[in-house]
Amino acid sequence: MSIQQNLIDIKEGLPEHVTLVAVSKTKPVSDLQEAYNAGQRIFGENKIQEMTEKWQLLPKDIQWHMIGHVQSNKVKYMAPFVSLVHGVDSLKLLTEINRQAKRYRRVIDCLLQIHIAEEETKFGINEQELNDLISSEEFKQMENIKIKGLMGMATFTDDETQISKEFTHLKTIFDRLKGSEFLKQTLNLKPETLSMGMSGDYKIAINCGSNMVRIGSSIFGSR
Ligand SMILES: *Cc1c(COP(=O)(O)O)cnc(C)c1O
Repeated sequence: MSIQQNLIDIKEGLPEHVTLVAVSKTKPVSDLQEAYNAGQRIFGENKIQEMTEKWQLLPKDIQWHMIGHVQSNKVKYMAPFVSLVHGVDSLKLLTEINRQAKRYRRVIDCLLQIHIAEEETKFGINEQELNDLISSEEFKQMENIKIKGLMGMATFTDDETQISKEFTHLKTIFDRLKGSEFLKQTLNLKPETLSMGMSGDYKIAINCGSNMVRIGSSIFGSR
């Protein structure tokens, strides 16, 4: 199967309100170019250096999403161009993104990563930590970031009931956030995006309320 055909097949099955992030980590620029030629404009990478190298080589109307865990000291490399940072899970990291965005006179859109999986290894914060973060004075003062929603990863398992339970949990947190009083207190919180679902579980995620899926291997082949 070609990258182009994979994209066509996947997009056919996506409801209109669901945004597709083509996860191109580890893949050569020629693969991204092929997806670009097929009309794809949003790409997800999980390493800042790799994303920056690809950004330099590829057309400038691509929207680059950082989907991996971000180290504060590397934020400066993506600050000029990144379009959405999915994996923000601390006030410290958000502070650095805000600082670097200001240097480039930008507002960088971010998602807060919520820990929903059973595994200890997955990054993310819980709902209490989310509420603490968005109600903090430091957060309210940040003018160069915008929280556009939440991101999460389910447990890596074949148990669809469990995956569905975890995604539904995240949707519930997202809905509470959208209805929360914090929205009135700060300008940099505008929850619209719920990023959940990868190649193996995106259909379940969409059924549970996802409106952004991050798909890699089903488009580009296994890594
Ligand atoms: C790699 C990755 C994906 C895509 O995974 P596939 O199984 O290849 O679709 C999605 N989200 C994150 C955070 C990733 O690191």
